Amino acid sequence: MTQLSSDLHDLTVAQLAKALATRQVSALETAQHFLARGRAHSELGAFLDTQEDVTLAQARAADARLASGTAGVLEGVPVAHKDIFVTRGFASTAGSKMLKGYQSPFDATVVARLGAGVTGAASGAGMVTLGKLNCDEFAMGSANENSAYGRVKNPWDGTRTPGGSSGGSAAAVAARLTPAATGTDTGGSIRQPASFCGVTGIKPTYGRASRYGMVAFASSLDQAGPMARTAQDCALLLSAMCGPDADRDSTSLDVPSEDFTHTLNDDLVGLRIGIPAEFFGEGLAPDVRAAVDAALKEYEKLGAKLVPISLPRTELSIPVYYIIAPAEASSNLSRFDGVKFGFRAEHYTDLNDMYLQTRAQGFGDEVKRRIMIGTYVLSHGYYDAYYLQAQKIRRMIADDFQQAFKLCDVIAGPVAPTVAWKLGGHSDPLADYLADIFTLPGSLAGLPGMSMPVGFGAEHMPVGMQLIGNYLSEARLLNVAHRFQQATDWHTAKPQGV
Ligand code: GLN
Repeated sequence: MTQLSSDLHDLTVAQLAKALATRQVSALETAQHFLARGRAHSELGAFLDTQEDVTLAQARAADARLASGTAGVLEGVPVAHKDIFVTRGFASTAGSKMLKGYQSPFDATVVARLGAGVTGAASGAGMVTLGKLNCDEFAMGSANENSAYGRVKNPWDGTRTPGGSSGGSAAAVAARLTPAATGTDTGGSIRQPASFCGVTGIKPTYGRASRYGMVAFASSLDQAGPMARTAQDCALLLSAMCGPDADRDSTSLDVPSEDFTHTLNDDLVGLRIGIPAEFFGEGLAPDVRAAVDAALKEYEKLGAKLVPISLPRTELSIPVYYIIAPAEASSNLSRFDGVKFGFRAEHYTDLNDMYLQTRAQGFGDEVKRRIMIGTYVLSHGYYDAYYLQAQKIRRMIADDFQQAFKLCDVIAGPVAPTVAWKLGGHSDPLADYLADIFTLPGSLAGLPGMSMPVGFGAEHMPVGMQLIGNYLSEARLLNVAHRFQQATDWHTAKPQGV
């Protein structure tokens, strides 16, 4: 055992990668250390599946590549994947009973790129998979309470939600059960849990990261992204995750992968930060506002200028999203019929009854609600009134951002109106939907957005600040976040008891 071993979990991805590359620590002992931490903190409910033999075999392979000089850029650094990504060697359930125990024959592109590579021939970053992380069923939710496999506790306060739908990812990173995790963001599911758990996460421009092997929720919105403790770590993972994948995902952008770490230290003098009036209105809790305001002051010290802007259709993003996302979900989820894969009801009378029983028993309430809303808004007679209108407003929301980006380089504001609420605190699904107000506009426009910790609010719960950039400006966003993290230490705060 090396000297580092006792506090391996306190190292960032960047630090761990260096310790592994210089052979101060082996991939095997790193994996063993994190697996032990996962077992010790199982009460959080973050992991849905671990397969220690698979993880340790990957770690041994990483050590071999480190020894032979064929290592990837993050060789041997552990990662855990949101259970939306299909992952060989682990169950892939999307948080649904419908896919209980499902074993995928292939890896999602993002999983392969972060791991041993798409070809399996050491062409990936070389990260070692610790397991699969809890999430809302098919990523539908804001509190991780729609998972068929139980709640996740927020490591800062076990009576509160970690956020959702990537709640397991955020909780695992915050509790240092993994140095980094993947998440997916359809309407805020990377940014909001990152904010609630005091970690950093980025959702790239729609199309930057391949959706191949991501269980589909709303295909025109779904994007993968990393969650870690620092912007630098997110930059390392995002650089490995992104890149064209046109053969497998027709919406993958034909933009070469980029090294997002190169510009992390660019200075911010003269940076114009747009402050949307609509993000700072009545609905914003004063504790969240205070932390975000203090962060904006810090940016002024770093040489940035604050510019008032307007995103006038912010409120409309809620009805628009909750028409478009369920519409796409109702179509995507039709594949779960008891025939092709996953769960099939035990008792049924004929084929139709088999479909009915399977879907009635396999899906949870929120998923059924979305399928019903989705089929309704797509049905003859309502399509024009709802779906088409929503698509038109979606375009206007995207145009509003382009107007705003004439005045500013990045946009800053809160991620969510409040800090993490109590588990079970929202009995009405509408309360969850309304809390998505600040993340939905960027999602509908397909823009990159991130969340990073900027302080604490009520009951010492973390507050995140959102940064939204124009298309393909991930490097700039990560730079803006990194410089803040160089000047402050909110991202180093650690929940008690972990
Ligand atoms: N909370 C939103 C929803 O329930 C967003 C989910 C997501 O981004 N996956 O749809």
